[in-house]
Amino acid sequence: MKKSQAVVIGGGPAGSSAAYFLAKQGIKVNLIDKDSWPRDKICGGGLTTNCFPVLQKMGLMEELDKIADFKFTGYVIYSQEGAKIQAPVRQRIGKGSEEISYSYIIDRKVFDKILLDKAREAGANIFTETEAVEVDISQDIIVETKQEENFVCDVLVVADGSGSSITRKFQQDVHKGSAIAIKSIFTGVKGLEEKMEFFLDDDVGFGYGWIFPIGRGRANVGIGLDIAYLKQRNKNIRQLFAEMLERPLIKPRLEGAKMEGKPQSFPLRMGFDLSSFRKGRVLFAGDAARLVYPLNGEGISYALQSGEVAASVIADALKEPVDFCRLTRYERQSAKVFSDFKAATRMQKLMGSPRIQRFVYNNSVYDDKLGQRAMGILEHSSDVKTFFNIRSIVQGFYIAFKRRMNKQKVDRGQK
Ligand SMILES: Cc1cc2nc3c(=O)[nH]c(=O)nc-3n(C[C@H](O)[C@H](O)[C@H](O)COP(=O)(O)OP(=O)(O)OC[C@H]3O[C@@H](n4cnc5c(N)ncnc54)[C@H](O)[C@@H]3O)c2cc1C
Repeated sequence: MKKSQAVVIGGGPAGSSAAYFLAKQGIKVNLIDKDSWPRDKICGGGLTTNCFPVLQKMGLMEELDKIADFKFTGYVIYSQEGAKIQAPVRQRIGKGSEEISYSYIIDRKVFDKILLDKAREAGANIFTETEAVEVDISQDIIVETKQEENFVCDVLVVADGSGSSITRKFQQDVHKGSAIAIKSIFTGVKGLEEKMEFFLDDDVGFGYGWIFPIGRGRANVGIGLDIAYLKQRNKNIRQLFAEMLERPLIKPRLEGAKMEGKPQSFPLRMGFDLSSFRKGRVLFAGDAARLVYPLNGEGISYALQSGEVAASVIADALKEPVDFCRLTRYERQSAKVFSDFKAATRMQKLMGSPRIQRFVYNNSVYDDKLGQRAMGILEHSSDVKTFFNIRSIVQGFYIAFKRRMNKQKVDRGQK
């Protein structure tokens, strides 16, 4: 039986971040992961600048620059009709900080390893090939593993991802409101720029297709969408992916390119709900806490952030005199840190209709401000709550409508 103050289940970004910040605050922590490492994770590998604050605190920015597959400086969205909106990466992390104009696409096998190594370096004990199979919370928390080594602790962080074998024991409807994504690697892709490319399509609803460059003519190519929407379409994800690759906008982008191996799919846990964050002395982080952003499928930065929040709350509760009631701060803190998830979920519902989505993106081509706003929806650079400023939306559409009319007049005149 291994004893520690805290145990973390899962060595992905959420688990490594939790273990790192716990160890840094002097908490004795054991982290267990079922896989043999370095392990891969089915993912697009796109990092937004939202990841930077936590990575900076972990002292990983320099290493990230070295290990990243690709540095990108902009985004492009193609609507189904071929409308193209472009925007540079432009973010500030914190008031008064310098503007950041790039971010990275990473290989999860490499990225997750540097995170886990950092947690180990900070003092966390890491046990790989150790799978949690049961959790007993009746007194001290006991985590039973398949390998028959048991772990005892005062507080448990469950960061087992969207596969969620342990989360499932605590939460009902684990996949309610979730999405699914499929990815593949293509080689010999021509015309790749320093941009993440997104493709909208009625068949993926408020999801998208993507082409993310990963260097040397290679690209991570995939699609992601709401599971309920996929069911409505009566299709499976592989079938839909194959169809998307034949679409008039995507097909020419992959002309002459070759798919490496088979596409791989995995669920993403959405449906933000603070009641999924904690059960007594068990805290959930990352995908286990449904922290995938509903407007773009981004989960890495939120996994990192929730690991940090969980660690700070646990360290506070374990301070003498130990008071587990202080763990209730986890929901309160998370409500602040992830405050835009609620608005984003509302927006996802609103934009769930392909007709509304098409209207927004097609009009966005005619107005820069609206374009930036529509882009902000996908890359999460702007405050989503501002999207509900009705006056500016109406203004944006009015300007876009006028420009569209003018353009049509000019086009007719040219004919
Ligand atoms: C196809 C696809 C593309 C995506 N693209 C992006 C993207 O471009 N950008 C982005 O930000 N997000 C993306 N995501 C989402 C992102 O991958 C997740 O949100 C992120 O990995 C969540 O991190 P995590 O630490 O919570 O879980 P994970 O990274 O899934 O880590 C969970 C860990 O728990 C371990 N584990 C599970 N069960 C047990 C157990 N019983 N015992 C011990 N260990 C266990 C696993 O081995 C794993 O290492 C994508 C997801 C998919 C499916």
